[in-house]
Amino acid sequence: MLDMPFTSPSSFFRTNVCDRWDELDIALIGIPSDAGLSHRPGARYGPQAIRAQSGVVRYINTFTKVIPYELARVGDIGDVPIENRNLVPAIEEILQFYQRIHAAGLIPITAGGDHSITYPILKALGSAKPLGLIHFDSHHDTVPPLKGTKFHHGSPFRNAVLDGVIDPKRTVQIGIRDPYYEAARSFVEEHGIAVIDMVEFERLGIERTVERIREVVGEGPAYISFDVDALDPAFAPGTGTPVVGGFSSREALLLLQGLRGLQIVGGDVVEVSPPYDAAGMTALVGAQMMFEILCLAAETVGNRRKGGQ
Ligand code: MN
Ligand code: MN
Repeated sequence: MLDMPFTSPSSFFRTNVCDRWDELDIALIGIPSDAGLSHRPGARYGPQAIRAQSGVVRYINTFTKVIPYELARVGDIGDVPIENRNLVPAIEEILQFYQRIHAAGLIPITAGGDHSITYPILKALGSAKPLGLIHFDSHHDTVPPLKGTKFHHGSPFRNAVLDGVIDPKRTVQIGIRDPYYEAARSFVEEHGIAVIDMVEFERLGIERTVERIREVVGEGPAYISFDVDALDPAFAPGTGTPVVGGFSSREALLLLQGLRGLQIVGGDVVEVSPPYDAAGMTALVGAQMMFEILCLAAETVGNRRKGGQ
């Protein structure tokens, strides 16, 4: 893990590549699928690019001083093997993979892929009891069926609410400035999903935004989904549907670090699109966000151990 970042085959944060799931608490996973995109393609290369850039993130959270590997057993279990490039059967493959992950008692932290991958993950993790959701995005992602299909990267949370695998009353969307407002907003309002859009974020500031997120999600199990387009395109240009006026990397770090102590049962970073990422910096910021989620999940494992569960 301390070796030079450009040496050896890439893995997430230079963790061991591990086939033995029983040796892990937290599994780092790639889903190289972008069949759900509506606009600029390329997110299928996300896991590869995030692995490559994650070598410089190294092992310690330099802000919180958390070392996740001291709290939990963490490994890179590779990519979800997807046999079908067609999105509908691919979603079924992802679902079955995460059902196995869930049955093995692992906390999955995933690099996408476009945002359509989050729906089967939530379906696998939230089947017994709907999860809380902390969703960073410029978009609501609650758009109705589009061009003949309900499976696309603009609909994962609509599908998840309708399937009863996330609890809309424990769901909060942060960073929203959605150009597809008219298609997505009515569903959000109808189901009582909390929204902290960029106007509201500007008014609340970091601390009160964190308070509001914690208030909505509460103590129960929660999943974090981080669409890299929540960040301003100045910080994350390499993405499928960029929208100006988003978070700086630093604001996003502070928001994620404000979530310490919540019960995090999984997370993902999606929509990193290397073909539009000239210097690899979107993959780097994606890797850092993934590391922040890893730290939160590792603290969840650590707290569980302390509690003797
Ligand atoms: Mn988005
Ligand atoms: Mn999204």
